[in-house]
Amino acid sequence: MDFSLNDEQRAIQETAREFARREVDPIVEETDESQKFPREVMRKAGELGFLGVIFPEEYGGAGLGYIEYVIVVTELSRVDPSVGISVAAHNSLCSNHIYKFGDEEQRRRWLVPLARGEKIGAWSLTEPNAGSDAAGTRTRAERADGGWILNGSKTFTTHGSVGDICVVFAVTDPTGKRGHNISAFVLDKGMEGFRPGKKENKLGIRASDTAEVVMENCFVSEDRLLGREGDGFVQALQVLDGGRISIAALGLGTAIGAFDTALAYSKEREQFGKPIAQFQAVQFALAEMATR
Ligand SMILES: Cc1cc2nc3c(=O)[nH]c(=O)nc-3n(C[C@H](O)[C@H](O)[C@H](O)COP(=O)(O)OP(=O)(O)OC[C@H]3O[C@@H](n4cnc5c(N)ncnc54)[C@H](O)[C@@H]3O)c2cc1C
Repeated sequence: MDFSLNDEQRAIQETAREFARREVDPIVEETDESQKFPREVMRKAGELGFLGVIFPEEYGGAGLGYIEYVIVVTELSRVDPSVGISVAAHNSLCSNHIYKFGDEEQRRRWLVPLARGEKIGAWSLTEPNAGSDAAGTRTRAERADGGWILNGSKTFTTHGSVGDICVVFAVTDPTGKRGHNISAFVLDKGMEGFRPGKKENKLGIRASDTAEVVMENCFVSEDRLLGREGDGFVQALQVLDGGRISIAALGLGTAIGAFDTALAYSKEREQFGKPIAQFQAVQFALAEMATR
């Protein structure tokens, strides 16, 4: 398979690289230290189409594919993986879920502002007792007149406290078959009974907002159900297939960024009267990083 980039992909790579250098690099230390979500960077990323890379233009997206998406996430992560994970979670989790499983009305209502970068997306599957085993979701959605009442809490949601639109998973049929009793709903920031919980104080990617979200007697109307009732977990697994690509791009970009930094430092730092890059042991370490 030929993985060389075509002219358009190289141009996208150059645009993303330049954007990261100009808009992200100058503030990366400050936002990481202060754990401040770089909303202005995200707004500008939206103007370049980075918040809707994989969605058709008719839904406000850039109409590109996964190769272009990987290029963007890799280049951003190279400078700041916080921005990389934000762009990735926004595109591949929240927005992609609505694109894949939302009806036309739901796509127009939520996907268009997400893909244009006017709104920030979140996707809440993980719970304190349901991580890898997400079918063990405990958040409940009980039938009510015209919709459901949601109760429960989620953990580790990227954009849990800064997000505007959130896809939330809840058990709609507690006696139903495991994995086929969960449904996905779209919630908007500010809805009654829906609020962010504790924000995580992470060791890394600190400018990316990771937080709990809490539902307390939150009424969710019928038009907020994505796809069919009971299909939420199966939908989540399909959405996570795209999420794996995001995480790979994030890891690759972070590794390239670490190599860039190590290489630059080894040329600048001098010991015994010469740059440490001239010592073979340092060259071995750099060569290992580059080849891996
Ligand atoms: C920065 C960050 C952002 C995140 N963003 C989101 C988000 O936006 N939305 C969301 O819903 N979630 C999000 N998550 C949560 C993430 O999806 C979970 O962390 C993940 O599903 C793993 O769950 P856990 O942390 O509870 O680990 P556990 O499930 O408790 O796993 C602990 C360890 O056990 C291993 N393990 C578990 N089961 C098995 C098994 N069957 N066989 C072998 N090994 C096993 C795991 O690989 C892991 O090493 C985020 C997490 C982080 C750290």
